[in-house]
Amino acid sequence: MKNEFIFKTPKTLLNKGSGYLCGYTHSLNPYTGCSFGCSYCYVRQMPVSLFRKGEWGTWVDIKLEAAALLRKELQKAKAKGKVTIFMSSSTDPYQPIEHKEMVTRSLLEVMVEDPPDFLFVQTRSPLVRRDIDLLILLKDRVRVSMTVETDLEEIRKHFTPDAPPINARLKTLQLLRDAGVPTQATIAPVLPSSEAFPEKLRSLVSRVCVDDYYMGDGSGGKRTRKLAIKPLYERFGLEEWYEPSAYRIVFDRLKQVFPADQLFLSQEGFEP
Ligand code: SF4
Repeated sequence: MKNEFIFKTPKTLLNKGSGYLCGYTHSLNPYTGCSFGCSYCYVRQMPVSLFRKGEWGTWVDIKLEAAALLRKELQKAKAKGKVTIFMSSSTDPYQPIEHKEMVTRSLLEVMVEDPPDFLFVQTRSPLVRRDIDLLILLKDRVRVSMTVETDLEEIRKHFTPDAPPINARLKTLQLLRDAGVPTQATIAPVLPSSEAFPEKLRSLVSRVCVDDYYMGDGSGGKRTRKLAIKPLYERFGLEEWYEPSAYRIVFDRLKQVFPADQLFLSQEGFEP
């Protein structure tokens, strides 16, 4: 898919944490737009995407001079009290353009110099491994949450053809863990997966979060319904996985393998 990249100088970078992210003082998005363009991405139904001509997934705005701006905003925010940051809520900080532009890396460098109280890094990209050298310096003030919605590669390809392969994400979780970076596997949104999925995660993480469209799209599933992705389930005869109770299939399987205090449901799994 052809992508349009535009450089823009933002006025602000740290946004107030609200709604689903009310446990955070701030959210931080190094980019606007996301070239992974997942079929179920609820951001498609948000103003940032609705007021844009190009389809979600085909354009990315690259934030210029982001590090200098963050340095200033972080200092100001820290002077007022505790600072907890969720990166990112409406883009993937390690989408492919980050290889070249390194906006996310530049922001991490700022946060290593002047650490926030907590940084949550949400991604589905193995590229995060490039920044292990910085993440490790944040010690227990950081958690990298790797989206792994399924263990089945054909399901991944069906719902998110432009996202990275599942095995590369699992390998990245292993590398992060071996380096001592706090991690979690985030099964969100729950997609159809195999019975062996929990076992595949067990040796890699000691924290798993499960979330779905109904609990996790910030609108009780309304935004997701507008995306009309049910046909994607129907094509594979997987309608039962579109039901609001589907998360229980995975959660109950996980409970056979993980202790209860390592399992988190929806918002609690994203808390600082
Ligand atoms: S990676 Fe996240 S932000 Fe990007 S398209 Fe997929 S769900 Fe949306």
